[in-house]
Amino acid sequence: MYDIKSMKENEIAQIVSHEGEPAFRAGQIFKWLGAGVSSFDEMTNIPLALRERLKETCLLYRPKCLNKQVASDGTVKLLWELFDKNAIESVVMSYNHGNTVCISSQVGCRMGCAFCASTRGGLVRNLTASEMLDQVRYSGFKAEKKISNIVIMGIGEPLDNFENVIRFLELVNHPDVLGIGMRHISLSTSGPEGGIRRLADEGLQITLSVSLHAPDDATRNIMMPINRKGGVARLIDDCRYYCLKTGRRISFEYIMAKGINDSDTHANSLITLLNGMSSELSPLIHVNLIPLNSVEGSAFRPSDPDRVSAFAEALKKGGIRTTVRRRMGADIDAACGQLRLKRRAQSPDRR
Ligand code: SAH
Repeated sequence: MYDIKSMKENEIAQIVSHEGEPAFRAGQIFKWLGAGVSSFDEMTNIPLALRERLKETCLLYRPKCLNKQVASDGTVKLLWELFDKNAIESVVMSYNHGNTVCISSQVGCRMGCAFCASTRGGLVRNLTASEMLDQVRYSGFKAEKKISNIVIMGIGEPLDNFENVIRFLELVNHPDVLGIGMRHISLSTSGPEGGIRRLADEGLQITLSVSLHAPDDATRNIMMPINRKGGVARLIDDCRYYCLKTGRRISFEYIMAKGINDSDTHANSLITLLNGMSSELSPLIHVNLIPLNSVEGSAFRPSDPDRVSAFAEALKKGGIRTTVRRRMGADIDAACGQLRLKRRAQSPDRR
């Protein structure tokens, strides 16, 4: 079966021509899919015989919402069932400047970060472009909010699912699909080897968030085992390349874990590390301190609020632009992968 919702117009053209139909049908079908039809019968300008053939050869699945939680601050967390019964999460957050959906890029994750719920049980499979697109479209419907921004910051490591993520970005940006501008999209990555450079070479205008979490290898190795490949030095080198190549800014994410990465020494190393990236890049760099969400079965605890403030002040004094992220959806398990983790306890992954 073809995953037709993940296809570009020129790829649909190949199916159409295989069926002996004229090429312009591909544009018509692409537009219908972009408009979000859930059956081929809705494609009223497509001949019946072609519609029947498409039904036989193409998958047109729409994810089922298994759970919807609304937090007191309006954050909506959604658990979706995919065609193979695997489950993923999306979160809709409302800000003054519009509504943002946080989407997953994989079922599970193989990065193994010690503080993260999404990586328990490892990677099950990559999400297709259409499964990412559907999260944007149907999260908006379910939350009854118009989505203006996307962050790829849910379950999974997007650069470990590179081709599908790039395909998703092209589709979601397309005027016949959702038409969301690249500058309204952020991608968050732990920085697996080669990923950030490859992304830079795509020349997209998206914003990059890098899950740094520690300024030195000893600390980052404990938190993020993938750091063992190349270490912080390689990661920063990749980030420098990204800024120079795209001219886009990077937001460094730093979760504050009590007694792990939150000392004055860590703050000072972080200042040295980021100031060392190059003075011309400093306007493009920004640190986002995130209060850690405690995850069941993990020894990591959030830093005390006073420690977070002191850390933020130290960074600012050191010349680093710093914000402390507002916690959203704290009362509804909105931390990465927590809903899916609970569901897995009752219903295992489909591998
Ligand atoms: N794999 C990508 C994107 C998914 S994780 C990445 O690593 O960036 C999205 C963000 O949530 C990352 O910054 C991640 O470190 C953070 N995160 C994971 N578990 C968390 C927790 N328990 N508390 C707070 N942030 C967490």
